[in-house]
Amino acid sequence: MNKKPEHVIILGAGPAGLATGHEISTKGGKVTVLEKNNFVGGLCRTLEEDGYKFDLGGHRWFSKNEDLNNWFRHLMAGEIVMVNRISRIYYDRKYFFYPIKFSDIFKNTGPLTILHAGLGFLWAAIQQSVSDKPIITMKQAYVSQFGNKLYDMFFRRYSEKVWGRPCEELSADWVSQRSKGLSIWTTVRDALIGSNNKVTSLIDEFMYPRDGYMRIPERLAEDIKSSGSDVLLSSAVTAIKYHGPDDFEVFFTRNGQEQSVRGDAVVSTIPLGYLAKILKPACTEEVTLAADSLEFRDLITVNVKLSKKQVTPDTWLYIQDSDILFGRLHEPKNWSPAMVPDGDHTSLVLECFCTLHDEIWQMSDEEIADRCVRDLVDKLKFFDESDYLGANVVRTRFAYPVYDLDYAAKIKVIEKYLEGFEGLQIAGRGGIFRYNNADHSIEMGLMLGQKLLGYDIDHMAVNTEEDYQEIIGKNEKRRDRYIFELPEDKAQDTTGRRVKS
Ligand SMILES: Cc1cc2nc3c(=O)[nH]c(=O)nc-3n(C[C@H](O)[C@H](O)[C@H](O)COP(=O)(O)OP(=O)(O)OC[C@H]3O[C@@H](n4cnc5c(N)ncnc54)[C@H](O)[C@@H]3O)c2cc1C
Repeated sequence: MNKKPEHVIILGAGPAGLATGHEISTKGGKVTVLEKNNFVGGLCRTLEEDGYKFDLGGHRWFSKNEDLNNWFRHLMAGEIVMVNRISRIYYDRKYFFYPIKFSDIFKNTGPLTILHAGLGFLWAAIQQSVSDKPIITMKQAYVSQFGNKLYDMFFRRYSEKVWGRPCEELSADWVSQRSKGLSIWTTVRDALIGSNNKVTSLIDEFMYPRDGYMRIPERLAEDIKSSGSDVLLSSAVTAIKYHGPDDFEVFFTRNGQEQSVRGDAVVSTIPLGYLAKILKPACTEEVTLAADSLEFRDLITVNVKLSKKQVTPDTWLYIQDSDILFGRLHEPKNWSPAMVPDGDHTSLVLECFCTLHDEIWQMSDEEIADRCVRDLVDKLKFFDESDYLGANVVRTRFAYPVYDLDYAAKIKVIEKYLEGFEGLQIAGRGGIFRYNNADHSIEMGLMLGQKLLGYDIDHMAVNTEEDYQEIIGKNEKRRDRYIFELPEDKAQDTTGRRVKS
């Protein structure tokens, strides 16, 4: 067993910070969570206006770790709905199912495109089996998996919208983290005949909290507080003084007042580069350079309220066409009827990917909403102007860690510097600069909580698995992962299945 700290200070009340705090506080430890926003949840935020609820972009719950799913069912008992996944891609004014189906390509394109896509795909399959050339860029990663033509049709434009730069300037790591182990043959089989549930398959159903994804962080914070620990909102961390091993003083501004708190462990889930720059003793110029050059993409979410029963059947719609401002949309009512005021109304949530101060970010909220509504009415022909009831525009910083070609080297420089602070741990999406989904950040937080309770466990192993995140397969190697112990008084999980014998 490792040494257990007496008071853990957690920076950030997103899923990672709250999951860490939950694991420690509900098992008898003491934590203080400091959050700069006046709400918990970080990127897992749900807003509400006039009875319309919306996430910053639809968040689904999915994990391959069944223990984590059971933990989730236990936490969210009575609030979970099941959602069917129907994802489509809008490309050149036509709809294609995702995962890709060849029948769509037959229906929507000409024989030349089909021949081109088929040959490109075959060539990629041959190359994949004979070549051991390293795959470095995002473009190479996509082409090696799908071939040139399918990459160009379904991945290039969308990726460039999300990341704001050509795929040649981005690392292959993002693709491989999301599709490692998704063999070209699995893709072909799913594309031709759909998934076969008896073997490995792409997921087509997921869990969702009935009233929006933010219910997860809210539930975590409720439990932390009822266990006697603190979650302090509107508390922006500004400096961390290291007094020596396991002795930290964290400074934060709360409602305009400078305050500090002392603890024997710090868990940081705030952006990694920012953390490096507020630690004292201060870092070297090399670390500052690395910290300043870790980039994030930002996000503008537009919630469009409509007097209409339903617009699309989709769970997500990916918009490739570059003349449309947003890159992805979803209709919250398709996820949970509780997301709209009543059965006669619906809404669309649009994700506009951007970077602070770029052309999109500089548009006023009104301009963004007008432009999005025009795209929906004139180009996608989703509704009549008379159905439009108004929109909310929400701006979010630090939404996507950008994997440029040097990002891994920059992280190494920062991590080396952090090694000098005994008792400091990092976790989470911005916190370790890894493209975590919420379930990854939560699993990482829970494992880190267990580590701080004295167990020998490596929370940094999460989201490094050698298998495709959306594949459920048989005979997988067991990994270092969160193991859920159901409280003694509950023999069954919330779905009625026994989880422990
Ligand atoms: C549009 C969109 C769609 C997504 N869809 C999905 C999905 O379908 N499924 C899924 O699993 N995941 C999804 N994600 C990812 C998910 O939102 C993140 O993985 C998750 O929120 C990461 O949690 P975290 O705690 O690691 O980081 P964050 O959520 O970023 O939390 C970090 C927290 O630290 C706080 N903080 C920062 N600086 C300071 C400071 N100086 N002082 C105090 N606090 C500070 C922030 O305010 C924030 O609350 C999506 C993300 C986006 C943007």
